[in-house]
Amino acid sequence: MARFEYFAPTSIEEVIRLLQEHGKEAKVLAGGTDLLVFMRDGRVKPRWVIDLTRVEGWAYLTETEEGGVRIGAMTTLREIEISPLLQARYTALVQGAREVGSVQIRNRATLGGNLCTSSPAADTPPSLLTFDATVRLRGPAGERLVALSEFFTGPGENVLQPAEVLVEVLLPPLPPRTGSHYLKLSTRRALDLAFVGVAARVTLAEEGETLAEVRLGLGAVAPTPRRVEAVEELLRGQPLTEETLARAAKVAQAAVQPITDVRASAEYRRAMVGVLTKRALQRAYAAAQNQA
Ligand SMILES: Cc1cc2nc3c(=O)[nH]c(=O)nc-3n(C[C@H](O)[C@H](O)[C@H](O)COP(=O)(O)OP(=O)(O)OC[C@H]3O[C@@H](n4cnc5c(N)ncnc54)[C@H](O)[C@@H]3O)c2cc1C
Repeated sequence: MARFEYFAPTSIEEVIRLLQEHGKEAKVLAGGTDLLVFMRDGRVKPRWVIDLTRVEGWAYLTETEEGGVRIGAMTTLREIEISPLLQARYTALVQGAREVGSVQIRNRATLGGNLCTSSPAADTPPSLLTFDATVRLRGPAGERLVALSEFFTGPGENVLQPAEVLVEVLLPPLPPRTGSHYLKLSTRRALDLAFVGVAARVTLAEEGETLAEVRLGLGAVAPTPRRVEAVEELLRGQPLTEETLARAAKVAQAAVQPITDVRASAEYRRAMVGVLTKRALQRAYAAAQNQA
């Protein structure tokens, strides 16, 4: 591993000041489960490493007054996985977090790190997209809120400026009669990235049958995690039948741009988008009916 200088600041202000001082050659370190791997491979060679773990008050999971949730960027995926607050309502996020690596990885890996690595195949973005998540970013000029759907700009790329950090993830409150589900396919059963990830969120109309609102979030089948608005519009106001499911699967398949790599071929990925879209919608629907 190339030599670097290590800093362990204790406040976000100090983190931002250090990033400003050292520019593009500096990297922040959260759980290190991506960054240290990239540094050991020589893919990333920061001259300055700024450890975030001593900054107090950056790991939290709290309910907002409106009934949504705020999650500090340094919250670990394990904390998300076992959170009763999230389990009860934001189920697909819990399922996504649970899919990451092993329990040892999840004990270190943070939500902020999972988003800022910006892998198209990461397991938390698809469900966060279905919950209309927003991220709070902070830099020298202050704070800004960015919809997660606008955060990712390409594989490994996002809208963060050089001296900016991700502070927290905001989940708006969910309407009643809402259910969600995340499904992942990977080559091995554990410790592997998804070659397809599908999250669905469904809100039922008051009579408990018609789809009042739908969200579909996909991972690993486009340059960034993304929503498929065409499916969401297609299903709004419809019942969930074999026919509407089949149409939704077709539209989802047409919307993706999968690649062929070591994990799967583009054709197989596209086929699995159809299968998983149907299955995730069915499970989200069943979960919504249980809430009704
Ligand atoms: C064996 C193994 C298996 C894995 N399996 C999966 C998997 O199945 N699914 C999956 O999604 N991921 C998987 N991962 C990847 C990894 O665990 C996650 O992406 C993790 O959530 C990254 O978080 P971290 O805290 O470790 O980030 P770090 O490695 O510390 O940082 C990652 C990147 O984000 C930046 N960063 C971190 N926090 C912030 C912040 N608050 N603001 C700005 N920038 C920030 C860092 O500078 C760095 O560029 C796996 C990793 C390993 C080693």
